[in-house]
Amino acid sequence: MLTIENINVYYGNIQALKGVSLTINQGEIVTLIGANGAGKSTLLKTISGLLKPKQGQILFEKSSIAGNAAQSIVKKGISHVPEGRRVFANMTVEENLELGAFLRKDKAGIKEDFEKVYQLFPRLLERKKQQAGTLSGGEQQMLAMGRALMARPRLLLLDEPSMGLAPLLVKTIFKIIEEINQSGTTILLVEQNANMALSIANRAYVIETGRVVASGTPEELDSSDQVKLAYLGGH
Ligand code: ATP
Repeated sequence: MLTIENINVYYGNIQALKGVSLTINQGEIVTLIGANGAGKSTLLKTISGLLKPKQGQILFEKSSIAGNAAQSIVKKGISHVPEGRRVFANMTVEENLELGAFLRKDKAGIKEDFEKVYQLFPRLLERKKQQAGTLSGGEQQMLAMGRALMARPRLLLLDEPSMGLAPLLVKTIFKIIEEINQSGTTILLVEQNANMALSIANRAYVIETGRVVASGTPEELDSSDQVKLAYLGGH
């Protein structure tokens, strides 16, 4: 579904991604793990069109999207939930969700997706008239995910959805990620919480200072001493 070939991405003179290649097959949950500053967020931003690779290819269902405008990438079926769940604080839950669908014209489909999102996140339904800025951190994460789903993506990019959440809520969010996947959305998940991410992923890539240093199924990575020591608590 998505093929990234050898991309190099820079911030000015600083090279943040160095020859990164990866593939995501339809229906998978793929996770990117790696330390702070490894380049995970940079990779998501490059896929969603917020950053342009200087070299390399990004193919989404065979069409080249590298360097395309972010809006056109959303239209093609990729939604990005950035780190830090940026919701529009002064707008209601409902208005935030509406914005997620702003590129769509299929009214009936939008209505259907409102229902799906409220089914997935009953909290959002209870709070639909509430200002987003007054929601808890976990609820804002749900809203950010719900808003991304309102674009009806086929590929959903999630950047650190568990960040700053209490353990019980992290479990809830991960369960919902699995449900979203089961309903047909392919997922690329960036996580610091490597064990948790590997527990739901089909495959993973380990990124270190801008390079992919390991990849494979969770079982394969779990048997790699290097990965275990660095990211999985060493046991
Ligand atoms: P984190 O979990 O901390 O976000 P990450 O793996 O997502 O880590 P990135 O945010 O992708 O890492 O950062 C990769 C590298 O690019 C880091 O060295 C970072 O300092 C640098 N970087 C990120 N954003 C910028 C920016 N706007 N300007 C300059 N350098 C940046």
